[in-house]
Amino acid sequence: MTGLAVDVDSRLRAEVDRTREEVVETRRAVHRRPELSGAEEQTAALAAQRCADLGFAVRTEVGGHGVVADLEGGRPGPTVMLRADMDALPVEESADGRPVRSEVDGAMHACGHDGHVAMTLGAGTVLTAMRDSWAGRLRLCFQPAEETASGAVPMIAAGAAEGVDHVFGIHLWAPIAVGRVAVKPGVLFGSADTFRLTVSGRGGHGGMPHTAVDPVVAAAQVVLALQSIVSRETSPFAPAVVTIGRVSGGTTFNVIADQVELLGTTRALERSERERLLRRVEEVASGVAAAAGATAVYEHAAGCPPVISDAAMAEVVRRAAVATVGEEHVDQAEPITVGDDVACFLDLAPGCYFLVGAGHPERGPVSPHHSAGFDIDEACLPIGVETLVRAALDRLR
Ligand SMILES: [Zn+2]
Ligand SMILES: [Zn+2]
Repeated sequence: MTGLAVDVDSRLRAEVDRTREEVVETRRAVHRRPELSGAEEQTAALAAQRCADLGFAVRTEVGGHGVVADLEGGRPGPTVMLRADMDALPVEESADGRPVRSEVDGAMHACGHDGHVAMTLGAGTVLTAMRDSWAGRLRLCFQPAEETASGAVPMIAAGAAEGVDHVFGIHLWAPIAVGRVAVKPGVLFGSADTFRLTVSGRGGHGGMPHTAVDPVVAAAQVVLALQSIVSRETSPFAPAVVTIGRVSGGTTFNVIADQVELLGTTRALERSERERLLRRVEEVASGVAAAAGATAVYEHAAGCPPVISDAAMAEVVRRAAVATVGEEHVDQAEPITVGDDVACFLDLAPGCYFLVGAGHPERGPVSPHHSAGFDIDEACLPIGVETLVRAALDRLR
């Protein structure tokens, strides 16, 4: 039987209870003032101020609007990072009478990151109160620009992950009912990469194509050829996606353009598959373009690897979740083909990213993440706080 001593356990519950209202208020404050990816100034300032008030050593503007806050325990030990993303989405929140609404036109916390900030600050508050019962260093990491998969890499380049031994983080998940927690070792979310292909030919007269090299025809062949990477080269048992989402080039019907630009994305559930897909996009595009007498230049625009939880750390979280909501409310998560650049932190230190149920199906159909009707049941917040605290305490000993 592993677990916390009875006195630590009851203190933990009391402290989580004590933070309950503040966590809800924080979530509402962040929800009212959503900030888009890369513009998280007020949210970062709120997180930094709270951490400073709690006695953390705070670094701001870490790789953009990132905040890194450290608190030392009573004795030396490992460093545990709790990571929360802070950004909102360019979505106009639905006017359905919900009590807490975005006060910014065209922006909304439609993915639950407001709750992530609030829960992580709540966990920081609880662990500050219990500082005498743990060893090591607690690091809270508030990350900007998750939705554009461009926040973690600059934070890491600025030193956010230095010395970190373990990483834990939550994604609130509305398709899962509030009261449940889902965790799994291995892949939780897929990779998500974006790329640009610039197909160059030689412009000319639309009536005399033999005097030009037509990049529109070459680009069309590239788009079709890329589809065979998944259909002909990828195991039917390995989920993979190659999508070209935008084709742009040319001006009018009788002018052969010089260039066509293709923008696309790839998704995979394994690191090796991710790398292979991107490599093959480049190879196929340049080979097919060359066959048409054109060139294709590949550029990787942004991306993140699959979100992979370490088996031992997933077990730490599973135990923490069982202690919080009971064995019968803890599920094995299923992999989901969305991305999250928490993956970059998890690649550097063993950790676990897990799902805390935030939906309330009895109140009607749950609106998907990223939609105008998205909402969370705030009862999920103390569950997230307690699970995070228990997971952190498991390591901070
Ligand atoms: Zn999202
Ligand atoms: Zn999200």
